[in-house]
Amino acid sequence: MHSQQVTAEPQPNDGAERDSAAGDVPGVLRSPAPGTDRASLAFDVIIAGCGPTGAMLAAELRLHDVRVLVLEKEIEPTSFVRIVGLHVRSLELMAMRGLLERLLQHGRRRPAGGFFAAIPKPAPKGLDSTYAYLLGIPQPVIERLLAEHAIELGAQVRRGCAVAGFEQDDEGVTVELADGTRLRSRYLVGCDGGRSTVRKLLGVGFPGEPSRTETLMGELAVGMPQEEIAARMAEVRETHRPFWLRPFGEGIYSVVVPAPEVGDRAQPPTLEDFKQGLRAIAGTDFGVHSPRWMSRFGDATRLAERYRVGRVLLAGDAAHIHPPIGGQGLNLGVQDAFNLGWKLAAQIRGWAPEALLDSYEAERRPVAEDVLDNTRAQTELLSAEPGPQAVRRLLTELMDFDEVNRHLTEKITATGIRYDFGEGPDLLGRRLHDLDVKQGHLYGLLHRGRGLLLDRTERLTVGGWSDRVDHLADPTAELDVPCVLLRPDGHVAWIGDDQQDLDDHLSRWFGRPAD
Ligand SMILES: Cc1cc2nc3c(=O)[nH]c(=O)nc-3n(C[C@H](O)[C@H](O)[C@H](O)COP(=O)(O)OP(=O)(O)OC[C@H]3O[C@@H](n4cnc5c(N)ncnc54)[C@H](O)[C@@H]3O)c2cc1C
Repeated sequence: MHSQQVTAEPQPNDGAERDSAAGDVPGVLRSPAPGTDRASLAFDVIIAGCGPTGAMLAAELRLHDVRVLVLEKEIEPTSFVRIVGLHVRSLELMAMRGLLERLLQHGRRRPAGGFFAAIPKPAPKGLDSTYAYLLGIPQPVIERLLAEHAIELGAQVRRGCAVAGFEQDDEGVTVELADGTRLRSRYLVGCDGGRSTVRKLLGVGFPGEPSRTETLMGELAVGMPQEEIAARMAEVRETHRPFWLRPFGEGIYSVVVPAPEVGDRAQPPTLEDFKQGLRAIAGTDFGVHSPRWMSRFGDATRLAERYRVGRVLLAGDAAHIHPPIGGQGLNLGVQDAFNLGWKLAAQIRGWAPEALLDSYEAERRPVAEDVLDNTRAQTELLSAEPGPQAVRRLLTELMDFDEVNRHLTEKITATGIRYDFGEGPDLLGRRLHDLDVKQGHLYGLLHRGRGLLLDRTERLTVGGWSDRVDHLADPTAELDVPCVLLRPDGHVAWIGDDQQDLDDHLSRWFGRPAD
């Protein structure tokens, strides 16, 4: 893109028209008219993509009064009803921000176990969480609720706006939309999915393995009696696990079937592709017809070489992709956003210690590496070949040991993550589970996205950090250490009872105290 001088200071109301016709959701803005020069509008952060990662990040930034604009290329939210699972750690994050109740109304609770390579084992005993279940919920509902939450907090979401280019300089980023509109912000975050335009324009490599197989997924009418379908399916599923036809009501079935070949995933599949795939695997096409929608996904595994270049960052599928086995992708992206939000906000608000923003990549890239590896392993375990089948049987036996089951479940649910905060007790760097405190539940005190000192000694203080960190003195809190300092993402940043040591750690995570 050609460069352009951007001068105007941001205004509280950026002048973009609110679009009553844009529908139900207040705060959703109409796409600007083609060619409209909006270079004079400035934001702190522009987020490319209003999927789950982008919406969560926008909400987290708004908790700290950061001016956020989310640009989403699609005019309408997706209609693909992909049921995804929110795992324990994501449910905890939602509880920490007061969002869980809304989600629970739209989903179905299921047991937390049995997700590693679909090996049917119950969850290990005593999972250390109040939210020890899986919430099955349609992805479009999650996206809607997260976007509504971000908008309620003051984020602007503009649909029908595709990020097509950007240029960064010392002060900020100039973002160009597909229609030539230019917008100015201090940071840009690419939450624009696996084929991320932002990542490509940034020149960040995305090494890994390409798709070896492809799966078709859709909702179609089926012209075969239910009993016949069930019998045929049971037979085929003995050897082909990633295959199903599930009744959706009114003669419509959710159909998942291996594609006959790896095709161009930018193009939706055709009805004929479904018929061919079904015939190849089941010897019949089940009389499928009248599709509601059809989609395809591959099993590529890739990780961005970097998560940050200057003022541009990547999060969610834009930074990592892997096969859906274990149901971790959306969870991983939302958790990236939760890690990044308060750090980027601190940078913008001017109190971030020097290394804070870079700790996003330092903490989250290893987590993504681990997820990629566990999905590679799970993919092998789903193979019908005799070798992998033997390993699967062995692992199935090993999972009867609670420790093995717990280890694998903690990977899938992201409750086993321990960030490297240096030497210290095992709890340091881990999440703190929701516990009873004198004001109710700990997570209920984290809705505002601030740090928290949970102090059983009742003699410590957060002093000059009180504008960023809350203090709860509670000798009755169910902790087996005297005090913990929690970051806004609920990870334990310090354990101890010494004020000077606490002050050092408050500086490390929350910058210089206010005067
Ligand atoms: C069959 C299947 C089942 C799955 N099941 C699960 C599961 O159970 N649990 C789980 O955690 N995950 C699951 N996943 C993975 C999950 O769907 C993704 O990881 C998740 O959608 C990633 O969210 P995201 O916001 O990072 O990216 P996306 O959801 O891809 O969102 C990116 C957004 O950016 C927009 N965009 C793209 N380019 C631009 C641009 N240039 N400018 C502006 N906007 C742009 C897109 O329109 C989109 O709205 C599954 C995936 C598949 C395929």
